[in-house]
Amino acid sequence: ARRKLDAFRDKSAMTLDGHEISLLANVGNLNDIMQVANLGADGIGLLRTEFMLMHTDTLPDERSQYQLYSDAIHALEGRVLTIRTLDVGADKELPCLCQAKEENPALGMRGIRYTLANPALLKTQLRAVLRAANLGQVRLMFPMVNQVEELDAVLALLEECRRELDDEEKGFGDVSLGIVVETPAAVLNLPAMLPLLDFVSIGTNDLTQYAMAADRGNPCLARDYPSLSPAILRLISMTLQSARSQQVKVSLCGEMGSDPRLVPLLIGLGFDEISVNVGALLEVKAAICAQDFRRCSQLAGQALMADRLSELTDCISRYK
Ligand code: PEP
Ligand code: MG
Repeated sequence: ARRKLDAFRDKSAMTLDGHEISLLANVGNLNDIMQVANLGADGIGLLRTEFMLMHTDTLPDERSQYQLYSDAIHALEGRVLTIRTLDVGADKELPCLCQAKEENPALGMRGIRYTLANPALLKTQLRAVLRAANLGQVRLMFPMVNQVEELDAVLALLEECRRELDDEEKGFGDVSLGIVVETPAAVLNLPAMLPLLDFVSIGTNDLTQYAMAADRGNPCLARDYPSLSPAILRLISMTLQSARSQQVKVSLCGEMGSDPRLVPLLIGLGFDEISVNVGALLEVKAAICAQDFRRCSQLAGQALMADRLSELTDCISRYK
């Protein structure tokens, strides 16, 4: 089976009837990054920088971060690199940051909230990203953005970084801007945010957690609150509709993208792009190449009408 999959390394992710999907990788370490080009992915759709930067006593300075992003860009040989700013808090603790203990960390200072409260740390990362963007195709993505005010604040810091780099006569490049859509509020607030964005990426792991009020790491809840459920599907579909109405590209970077059985549904919903775990790249690509886009769209239409979990899972498992 491995041999068969190997044949997909050099193929592009395209359905039988010619509908092309950009297939990217979720990565959190150098080993993953090194495999992306070789596995024939179109680039990196999610670089979890908190995992890259967590192994030291202090957070890496601008120079070491610049080096790290540059290395990733070189390894990608021209493919796109999507860098997500530090997503700490809740399930992702960084030993070097000594965050304050909170009663409800998942509802606390995490993602963009944490970095906006620590602007020096965020600016170090933004400056490193802007400078690395001089070397290749870089997209910048912000986690846990719920409302446009957070986006305003982070974009102001980004502008400040550009001005500083200009004054210091340090080169920097253009970046496309996006957010991870991972809370119901982000879905509902998209109309105000889309004019400021080039793309959005749906993070179904957290979107499920926050929409269902179900801890994503609690195994007792995993079965009853999966990402593939009527409510989450509606939130996904709303996101796709709002973004498309403003010509903003939509990607998916949650775990559900790595399940080849869900590929027909995701294609049918109209994702421009799917970002999956490195280990799932070839399987997902093979699944994309076996689909017919028109039939996938019909499947998505049916799936969106399902009112129950069981109807939805039946609908997916019956699809051949
Ligand atoms: C998500 O929340 O779906 C996501 C892709 O990000 P993470 O799993 O890193 O929170
Ligand atoms: Mg997340």
